[in-house]
Amino acid sequence: MDNLEKIVSLAKRRGFIYPSSDIYGGLAGAWDYGPLGVLLKNNIKSLWWKKFVLDRDDMYGIDSAILMNTKVWEASGHIKEFSDKLVECKKCHKRFRAEQLKEEFCCHVCGGEITEPRKFNTMFKTLIGSAEDSASQIYLRPETAQGMFVNFKNIIDSFHPKIPFGIAQIGKAFRNEITPCDFIFRIREFEQMEIEYFIKQPNGVLAWEKSFEYWLNQMHDWMKEIGISGKNIFDREVEEKDRAHYSKRTIDIDYNYPFGRGELYGIAYRADFDLKNHGLDYYDEETKETFTPHVIEPTFGIDRTILALLCEAYSEDEMGGEKRIVLKFNPKIAPVKAAVFPLLKNKPELVEKAKEVYAMVKKDSPAGEAGIQPAMFDDNGNIGKRYRRQDEIGTPFCVTVDFETLDNDTVTVRSRDTGEQERVKIDELTKFLHNAIS
Ligand code: ATP
Repeated sequence: MDNLEKIVSLAKRRGFIYPSSDIYGGLAGAWDYGPLGVLLKNNIKSLWWKKFVLDRDDMYGIDSAILMNTKVWEASGHIKEFSDKLVECKKCHKRFRAEQLKEEFCCHVCGGEITEPRKFNTMFKTLIGSAEDSASQIYLRPETAQGMFVNFKNIIDSFHPKIPFGIAQIGKAFRNEITPCDFIFRIREFEQMEIEYFIKQPNGVLAWEKSFEYWLNQMHDWMKEIGISGKNIFDREVEEKDRAHYSKRTIDIDYNYPFGRGELYGIAYRADFDLKNHGLDYYDEETKETFTPHVIEPTFGIDRTILALLCEAYSEDEMGGEKRIVLKFNPKIAPVKAAVFPLLKNKPELVEKAKEVYAMVKKDSPAGEAGIQPAMFDDNGNIGKRYRRQDEIGTPFCVTVDFETLDNDTVTVRSRDTGEQERVKIDELTKFLHNAIS
């Protein structure tokens, strides 16, 4: 089994990610997040939101509708341009993205001859309303970006921001990918965290280059913060012929996935393409000048973030003479922060005390901070098995209530990565865990 297969299997077994519609044989390009997957995803989203929206004074967070007026997609160029090159095998009729076949000119499956590439628009169409005519055909958004552009004027009218400022959102996007593949890398329904950052770009001034550089650095800081290591990341300048129709410069940030290098995030200089096409501009009250802002767009795919984090975190090693699988997540993003056990299941005094500690860890907290959410209680099997189960889901700390606890109100805290155990006073436990997690 290669590492990707192991990760897919662990993700299913331990409740991170399941194939969509599994009992009916699945649906290509669609996956469901289970209880631990949702926790992981929510941690990523809230850290992102905090860093890029809440901690800044120049960012406005929105949540726009997935369904939009078709005129948006006409103006944005997506109806005309949002396509991949598709080739088809003349023998077995399997379809591929042309770039998948690269220099080979035959079918990957049967070796048959392939057709000339043709454009395939990857936007999903759907019908709105009860009349099934073309007038009510709309699209599921293929990017969250347009929701930010069409709210540009609303944000200005409500908040009067000074340029430069940004609009950010997190949300679903849909693309009818020709060949969904590689687990959650290329899927048809996915989530993005995107920023449209609006700047003034007078002729002959290097404003956009500076902003582009700044945002690229911010993206690298983010990856470091959540635990995607530099050695697996590569910035790739995208050539003009491969850039999206709206972009004047793009850098893709590639990640070293088990199946090879592929895009994780991207940053694009969309210039004034979108605002111009939507007929939107900005009036500067100080200079009394009206102009069309230019846009830098850092974009972060959530599903690819999760895939990269699972790849980074997955390891197999030995602890205490036993083989184990461990997800070495950064504690900040780990789905479960702490697990609490009684040493023995059949000693009611230990179980009772462990339940008390569990309730305290979950709820109690050092001044003003949230509790250690979520925590888990486990009294199944022996302590070694419980450690292994928590290691497999990446829980950074396991807290055990033993006989000494009954004497002196201390517990052992075992670290996932080192296996080391420390005795900590129950009074100081939540503070200890908070410090260790942050
Ligand atoms: P690719 O070249 O891999 O098809 P793209 O260049 O079309 O990707 P963008 O349009 O830049 O992707 O989308 C922004 C981000 O959304 C990507 O960096 C990626 O993280 C995510 N993303 C795009 N398409 C998919 C997909 N089919 N499945 C999962 N995530 C995706």
